[in-house]
Parts: sequence; C-alpha cells; structure tokens
Amino acid sequence: MEKICVAVRVRPPVTHDSSTGAFWKVDDNRISLHKSHGTPISGISYAFDHVFDEGCTNSRVYELLTKDIIHAAVEGFNGTAFAYGQTSSGKTFTMNGSETDPGIIHRAVRDVFDRIQLMSHREFLIRVSYMELYNEEINDLFAVENQKLQIHESLERGIFVAGLREEIVSNAEQVLKLIESGEVNRHFGETNMNARSSRSHTIFRMVIESHAKDTTCSSTDAIRVSVLNLVDLAGSERIAKTGAGGVRLKEGKYINKSLMILGNVINKLSDGAKNRGHIPYRDSKLTRILQPALGGNAKTSIICTIAPEEVHIEETKGTLQFASRAKRITNCAQVNEILTDAALLKRQKQEIEELRMKLQGSHAGVLEQEILKLRNDMLQYELEREKLEMELEEQRKSHKQREQSIRDQQMKTDNLGSLSTTSDFERSSSQAQDSGRQSLKEVSSDSSSKSQGDIFSTPSNFKAAPHSFVVKRSNYSQLPSFSPLPDAFSNVVDEDTWFKMNKGFIADLDSLQITPARKVQSFPPSDETPGSNENYKHEVHNLKRQLELAVEERDDLKRKHAEQAVLNDQLVREISELQKEAQLIRDIPQRLCECAATCKDIYVDVLSKTQSFISDEKSSAATLLSSISEIGTSLFTTLEAQFSAAFDEDQGVLSRNSSLIEEQRKILSERLNSTIKLFVSSEPSSLENEQVRNSLCCNEYKDRARGGETACWEEKLSNELSTIKGRYHGLEEELDSNNQLLEKSKQRYDAFEAEFRLLKEERDSLHKKVSESSQTLALVTDQKENVVKDLNHELLRRKDLEEKIEQFRVAFGCRKTSLMSFHSEFKSKIESLRAQNPVSVPKSVGC
Ligand code: ADP
Ligand code: MG
Repeated sequence: MEKICVAVRVRPPVTHDSSTGAFWKVDDNRISLHKSHGTPISGISYAFDHVFDEGCTNSRVYELLTKDIIHAAVEGFNGTAFAYGQTSSGKTFTMNGSETDPGIIHRAVRDVFDRIQLMSHREFLIRVSYMELYNEEINDLFAVENQKLQIHESLERGIFVAGLREEIVSNAEQVLKLIESGEVNRHFGETNMNARSSRSHTIFRMVIESHAKDTTCSSTDAIRVSVLNLVDLAGSERIAKTGAGGVRLKEGKYINKSLMILGNVINKLSDGAKNRGHIPYRDSKLTRILQPALGGNAKTSIICTIAPEEVHIEETKGTLQFASRAKRITNCAQVNEILTDAALLKRQKQEIEELRMKLQGSHAGVLEQEILKLRNDMLQYELEREKLEMELEEQRKSHKQREQSIRDQQMKTDNLGSLSTTSDFERSSSQAQDSGRQSLKEVSSDSSSKSQGDIFSTPSNFKAAPHSFVVKRSNYSQLPSFSPLPDAFSNVVDEDTWFKMNKGFIADLDSLQITPARKVQSFPPSDETPGSNENYKHEVHNLKRQLELAVEERDDLKRKHAEQAVLNDQLVREISELQKEAQLIRDIPQRLCECAATCKDIYVDVLSKTQSFISDEKSSAATLLSSISEIGTSLFTTLEAQFSAAFDEDQGVLSRNSSLIEEQRKILSERLNSTIKLFVSSEPSSLENEQVRNSLCCNEYKDRARGGETACWEEKLSNELSTIKGRYHGLEEELDSNNQLLEKSKQRYDAFEAEFRLLKEERDSLHKKVSESSQTLALVTDQKENVVKDLNHELLRRKDLEEKIEQFRVAFGCRKTSLMSFHSEFKSKIESLRAQNPVSVPKSVGC
C-alpha cells in the first residue's frame, strides 16, 4: 500500500498588479496564505509531497514527481499522472510544456524509450492512444472518425475504451508526432480566463508490454503489461467566473460535473478503507477510466496547479483542499504479470518465430518490416472486432427502437380504428335521452375545451350509439316546437350508408360548428402519409444495410474458418510425420540393444573357443582369458542395460546409468590393465620355473615355441580388447547423440502439440462465432421480415382507414349542408309562425 504522491505548482503571475491583498507563500513543501504585510492567515496552510514555486521548471517537476512512476511503468507497474486545477493555472503547460521547457508527457515518452534501451535483457512492445473526454463523450484524438466510444470491462483487459485506436510505436519521435497530430483534434475554447482553454479532459495512454529475451534464464515466461496514463484535466473553475454562455456553458457544466464526481471519488477514497462504502467510479467516464489509478493497482501522482493572483484565492483554496484529500488515498500497485498467452506480445512472438523460420535467409530489415506490419494488422483486426461488437450493440438498440416505434404506430392505428369502431353507446344514448337541445350544446362546448393533443383519439363529441340517430330524432319529436323532418333531409344521405360509414356513430352538429380545430386534427392532412412512408422506407433500407453487413461478417468468418481449417490440416500432417520420426528415434535404443546382445554372443563364443586351446586351466593365460571374459561380459551386460533404459525413455535413469557406466568402465579397464600387467610380469618367471623343472627332458625349441605362442595370444587378445573398447566408445557416442536427437524431437513434438491445441481452440472459437453470427443473422432476417410484414399490414390498414375517413368526411359535409339548410328553413318557418302567433312560441326553441 502506498500513498498517492501529491504536489502543488504555483504558476507565475500573469499581471504584476500591486494589490495590497493576501498572497500565497511557498516554504519548502508547505504553502500558506499570508496577509499583505506578511502575517500568515491561520488555518490556511497546507503541506504536500512537493510544492513548486513560480520559478520551477517542468524538468524539475518531472524529476521529482513523475520520473519514478514512468520508470516503474517500464518495470510493469501501472502509472498515472494527472494535472488538476482551475483554468489558466498551468495544467496544460505542465503536461505539454513549451518549446524550451517540454512538459511531463514529452519527457515521459523520451524517458520510457531511454529506459527500454537500458533494459537489453527484455523485449518491449509499446502501444499508444490519445483520447478526449468532451461533454461526457469519449473521442479518439488519433482518429477523428472514432467518436462517442464506449467503456468496457473484461477480465483480460480490465477497464478499456472499445474502438480506441492504438498505435504500435518504436521510438519517441514517432510518439511525439502522433501526439502533435492528436492535439489538432482537441477541443479548445476561449473563456475570460484563458484564450485557449482546454474544454475537455485528455488522456494520453501508453501500454507497455515486455518479456524477458532469454526465457531459459528466467523462472517463468511471464509477460508484463503496464498502462501509463498522462491526464490533462479541463479547468475546475466556477462557471460564473469564466463568463461562459451557450456552448461554453454547456461544456462547463459537463466539465464541472465530471470534476465534481472526481472530487466525490477522492473524498470517498480518502475516508479510509473502513468508512469508504460505495465509490462512485461509474458516475462519470473520467473516474471510470481512471478507476485503477484511484485507489487501485497503480502508482499515481497528482499535480495541482494554482494561480497566484488574489482574485483566484477561492479557486486556489478549493484546489488545495482537493489536493489534501487526495493525499490520503492509498493505492496498491503491483507488477502486472500475465502467465497466459493472452498478451499481444506473446502472440506476436510466436508469429515472429514462425516468420523467422519461414523467411530464414531473407534480409533482416524486410523481416522486421513484415513483423511490424503483421503487428499492426493484428491490432487493426482487434479494433475491427471491437467496432463490430459496438455495431451489433447499436443494431440491438435500433431494433428495440424500431419495435417501440411499431408499438407506438400500432397504438395510433388502434386509436384511429377506435374512431370508427369503439362505441360509447350507453353514455351517448343516455345523454341523448336525458337532455334537450340546450344540454347538447353544453356537452359540445365542453368537448371543445378538452385536449386536442391526440389527433387519433376518439373525440368526445362523437357519441357511440348504434341507434342513437333514431333516438335523437325521437328526442326532437319531444321538443315543444318540434317540426317534422323535411323531405329534403332524407335525400342528403341515406341512413344505411350513414350508419355503415360511422359504424354506429353520430355527431352533434353544433359541436362541429364550434370545434373547427378538431376537424382539422381528426382528418390528418394527406402529406403525413408520405412522411411516414419515407420513414418506413428509411427503416427498411437500414434493415437491408444491416443484413448486408451481417452477411459480409458471416462470409468473412467463413473465409477465416476455411483458412484455419487448411492450416489445421497442414499441422495435423506435420504432427503425424513428426510422430513417425519420433517412433523411429524411439526404436534406435531397441535396435542397439539387440546389436549389443549379438556382439556379446559372438564375444563369448570367441573366448570359449580360445579357452579350449589352453590345456592348463591354472596357467596365467587361462586366468587372463577368464578375466577378460568376465570384463567383456560385464561390459556387454551394462551396454544392454543402458540401451534398454533408453528404450524405456526414462531419462532420469538414463543419466544416472551413464555415470554408473562410466565408473564401471573405469574399474573394468583398471582391472584389465592390472591383469595384463600381472600376466606380463608373471610370464618370464613361470617360464624360468618351467625351464628348471624340465631342464633335463625339454629342449630349447619347445620352450621358444611356447613363449612365441603366448606372446601371439597376448597380442591378439589386446587387439581384440582395444577393438571392443573402440566399439564400446563408438556405441556410447552414438547413444549420446541419439539421446540428444530424441530430446530435441520430443521438445519439437511438444511445441507442435501445444500449437495444435491452440489452433484447435481458435478454430473452435471461430466455429462458435460463425454459428452465433448465423443465428443472429437468421434472427435479424426473421425480425426484418416480420417488421416488413407488419409495416405492409399497417400501411394497408392505414390506407383503408383514410379512405373510410374521407368518405365519412364527404358524407358529413353533405349532411351538414343539408342540415344547415334544414335549420334555416326551420328557422324561417318559426319566424313565420311567430309572425302569425307571437305569444305562444317558447324562446328556447331554435334560438
Ligand atoms: P490550463 O491548462 O490550466 O488552463 P495553461 O497551461 O493553458 O492553463 O496556462 C495558461 C497560460 O499560463 C499559458 O499561456 C501558459 O503558457 C502560462 N503558464 C502556465 N504555467 C506556467 C509556468 N509554470 N511557467 C510559465 N508559464 C506558464
Ligand atoms: Mg489546459
């Protein structure tokens, strides 16, 4: 567990105003607020790991604050350095620096490559990415087209931004050029406080993978993967101060929100492990990305930049409070070692090895380029895969939206249908029965004041009643001044048609007069249909495109699968050949064993025949022979044992036996030498004795002949012995080389088997992917068909309804005019009646 390293940096004052107010004083690693005459203001004094005054350079900040983190990152520790502070306090200056005084990022990049040069025992692979968090959206600064990227989390990669371009780099210059190109894409804006204020948080990221060059020296073949984040945050000032409005205000809100969440996370983390509770990393993308660096597995340093001007005292206090909170956070950094071959480096190393094998003899430069290209291709492939995943996700979302819109559409059509089908018979009829013409007017004026929002909803002035038309007419008959229906009325539209069209509805004519707006709404203008048709067409077009994409993806997967299958077959063939070879090598000891047995038989045979020539069993020659016979037999037995051990493939026994054999061989050769010496030294004396014993009866010739015979035997035997020795050594050497060959073949066989297993797994996963995407494709196709069907169905229904509504409208219009004429006629009649009899006519009728 180690604390986050926190430093404060005071930027030089922009204007040298001779204000008489308070000022910040830096004293070693302490910063405190003082009154103009120099007395410290109590309670406003903070101590940090470092406090850099106005004269401090980026080089010193880097040396004291970040250098260790960068070095640790090369060793395999995650590292993060970020700059926090209000706008124009010097965050970007600290991170990016200037021409004359390069910032932390620049220095870190150079330092990483310098360190790598020193670590000649390890092989490195560096990938860099550069992203921007603007208005809570992640944009790729290396690829402008990669916008609104998503954060994902996996066991293998931890928290990562999907679809972010990662460039493999081999030197510092390359990285700095990339950063320069990325800077162009960054969001800047002008505020009161900074003419070129960073309106986004940027994260420059280096992924450092390394592997020991000579794996035989290290105990494991682990790969170290560390992530180095160098973060330049947007300003933490109050919006009011920047004079922000419009776009700047919106940006400011997002900036402040994410910084506030960063503050919350830091507050929670500084509470100590026991009181922490839930840490709201997920509340903002910034904290989510920086999660490992905040209270996780990383070495972290924060540089809090402050502006010395009196006008910024409040912001500076806030920054210092943030810094002192951050000081309490503890992280738990450890070297990230990966023992599986999930890491890119390992995969690539395998490929490099293969390539080397294939391209042996070709030019090294070409080889290197090929390797680099392959690495980039692989990265590209991974990116594409991630993109595809994202697209699939989007497809799912858009599918959901489509479903929702269909549901909405369905609801609307249902409502339209209800215009002509639903009935509110009871209500309408009771109203028709209970109220007179006056009450009808009231109802209609009520309805006119009701919401006109939903154009498809059933208007309340259409009262459902299959026979209400009749009922209503009978109501008229109850009125005191009822006048019989004029003949002309029935000519307007026949009742059957009326009922059919209205499906039993009847409208209040007065309400029609006073709710003109509803009429417009109830019969939507015909230009709405083309608009929605356009939408449907667009949707169908989209679906078609998605289908095409899915088919392409499937074909691609199929092709890859076929390639994999070919490779697989090739490997299987190679493995079977190797197996045959290994079998042959395994058989060698067996054959040698048989050979040794045959030699032994011959040897025993020769010796027994030689022994048969010696009559005196106690003679020294006989002793020598039997001794040689013993030695030879023992040698052959050892050889046989050695070969059969090799045959059993027990390498431990084999090596132990080798040393035993060597010892035995030494003992035996000593024994042989001593026997020969004994024989040579004993032979003259025995000859003398013989001469003494047989001096009288044996002649000189006999003696000489006997001496010659022995010498001849001795020579023969020693020749034979040396031949046997030579053969033995030869056999031993052959055995050794065979053993080595066997060992190598075994290793190759194992390597091939491992590779085969890997390929098999890969093939299986591809198989799975192909089948999954086929399923998805089938699903999408089904869904598309259903959607198209639904759409067609809906279109037909809609058309049908529109036709009916049109008929209804026409009929309605006719009906209205006829009723109007009837009404005026009725009025004129009443007028004439009034004129005839002015007292008896009640006021309410017809007025
Ligand atoms: P921020 O990124 O915090 O908004 P900048 O880094 O853009 O602020 O700094 C604002 C201005 O102040 C820039 O013109 C920058 O050159 C200058 N500046 C900031 N810090 C220093 C420093 N330590 N030394 C010299 N100039 C500085
Ligand atoms: Mg900035």
